[in-house]
Amino acid sequence: QAAREVGSVQIQNVASIAGNLCNASPAADGVPTLLILDAEVELRSTAMVRHLPLQKFILGNRRTELQPGEMVTAIRVPKNAATGASAFVKLGARRYLVISIAMAAARLTVEGGIVGNAAVAVGSCSVVAKRLLGVEAALRGLPVDHALATAIQSAPMVELSPIGDVRGSAEYRLDAAREIVVRAVLDAAGHMPTARVAAA
Ligand SMILES: Cc1cc2nc3c(=O)[nH]c(=O)nc-3n(C[C@H](O)[C@H](O)[C@H](O)COP(=O)(O)OP(=O)(O)OC[C@H]3O[C@@H](n4cnc5c(N)ncnc54)[C@H](O)[C@@H]3O)c2cc1C
Repeated sequence: QAAREVGSVQIQNVASIAGNLCNASPAADGVPTLLILDAEVELRSTAMVRHLPLQKFILGNRRTELQPGEMVTAIRVPKNAATGASAFVKLGARRYLVISIAMAAARLTVEGGIVGNAAVAVGSCSVVAKRLLGVEAALRGLPVDHALATAIQSAPMVELSPIGDVRGSAEYRLDAAREIVVRAVLDAAGHMPTARVAAA
């Protein structure tokens, strides 16, 4: 879902996910998606191979942990993080070829109609995309129904510190982030066999 939202078909035909991460743009659409999958990057040089969790690899705007002589040679998703159902929602000023104002990715695992685990991340609302730990905690243990949207509306999102720029004010980004988190979570929940969530 996220890859289909990166740039245009021409960009998608040549771009790599590794390049998306190494670019370290706050608006990189691949980052929130891989954060909810607990991804780690494999960094390889002629001297050594090392692995870093994605959240430790991207340090800031256009800054990564990449050392001279290293390149990203793999992105690994642990098997237990590829469980449940997930969804990605991108907000841009137009439908196509657009830099994200905000984007959200969500992954839920559900047992017996109750959320077991929740992973939620938002990009373009902080220097580096962030997992929203308060939202994740608020979702765990809830029934898969309207309670999900209600919980997100009041959950803390202290990880976000958006800037205002030509694409949107900081206040707009914060409001929009909460809304697209609701949409991503409901979309992920809608992929659950036991989901009973009405459209937002
Ligand atoms: C018109 C346009 C629209 C775009 N729209 C979007 C968008 O909507 N969403 C989005 O997220 N991005 C967008 N981008 C940014 C970019 O194209 C994507 O992030 C893309 O995924 C980058 O991948 P790439 O392989 O082309 O990397 P490159 O652009 O070739 O490289 C980016 C940086 O990473 C380094 N690098 C690349 N691969 C590796 C590696 N394996 N190991 C170490 N360093 C590496 C390069 O040296 C360079 O510094 C857009 C770019 C353009 C030009």
